[in-house]
Amino acid sequence: MSAQSKPIPGTPGSVKPHLKGLKALSTHQTFRRITQLGFASFIAFLAIQHVVIGKNGEIVTASAEAFCPFGGLETLYKYITGGGAFISHTHLMDVILLTAVLAVALLLRSAFCGWICPLGFLQDLVSNLSRVLQKHIPSLRRGIVSLKKRGARLAVLGRYLCYVKYIVLAWAVGGSAYFGYMVFRDYYPWSTLLNIAEFTFTPGVIVLVVTLVASFFIERPWCCYACPLGAASGILGKVSPIYLKRDASACTSCKICTKACPMGIEVHTATAI
Ligand code: SF4
Repeated sequence: MSAQSKPIPGTPGSVKPHLKGLKALSTHQTFRRITQLGFASFIAFLAIQHVVIGKNGEIVTASAEAFCPFGGLETLYKYITGGGAFISHTHLMDVILLTAVLAVALLLRSAFCGWICPLGFLQDLVSNLSRVLQKHIPSLRRGIVSLKKRGARLAVLGRYLCYVKYIVLAWAVGGSAYFGYMVFRDYYPWSTLLNIAEFTFTPGVIVLVVTLVASFFIERPWCCYACPLGAASGILGKVSPIYLKRDASACTSCKICTKACPMGIEVHTATAI
């Protein structure tokens, strides 16, 4: 990786191989974006179809919430203890999707987050927009870099904030099991996205907007700090037999890997990623 595109200082993931023509298009990154776009479009189609056709027409369509894997986790207790019953807004499809997401986590770790999740994709889009704008507007770039430098002092706090998602996971799953309804639904930006075509206002709309605004400054803030589904699949991913191992004997500590990592992982000091 000798020739690099111009990196934006302090921006993780800004260092990329400088490829041209077809080679630049046939990278795994392009394939990943196409896959993400495909899943996001599918979910958008289901959401719109349910509202526009399903409610007023003769065709019965499933709510887009039937395609939320986290709904499967929220209803799991009721499903097991209630002989196949579900809490409201959930469906057998949620449990099936949950099983698929957890199987993917076990075999391919964060592949669901990186390749499929529409909320992850939206955050990526905003981050990419930010990167493009920073390239063309130097004053914006300087402002964001300066903000990040100030924010770097809070790095230790950031490390602890990463544990918030486990608390959210415990609250969402435990609360749903205890109270018998989805206690986190109204705050969950995933649910907000799935119900976006309904145009109803919930606290989740605010959480979604804050997440997207924050994505302009940091990579995937919701995923890093608050996502219970990411937390659940992350826990399972920890026992996955598949991981990347850094060859310490070949490492020159050039930090290109760390600068290229969109999630801000200190790859150059890690043993396994
Ligand atoms: S962490 Fe959550 S929001 Fe982020 S990509 Fe994974 S499932 Fe989606």
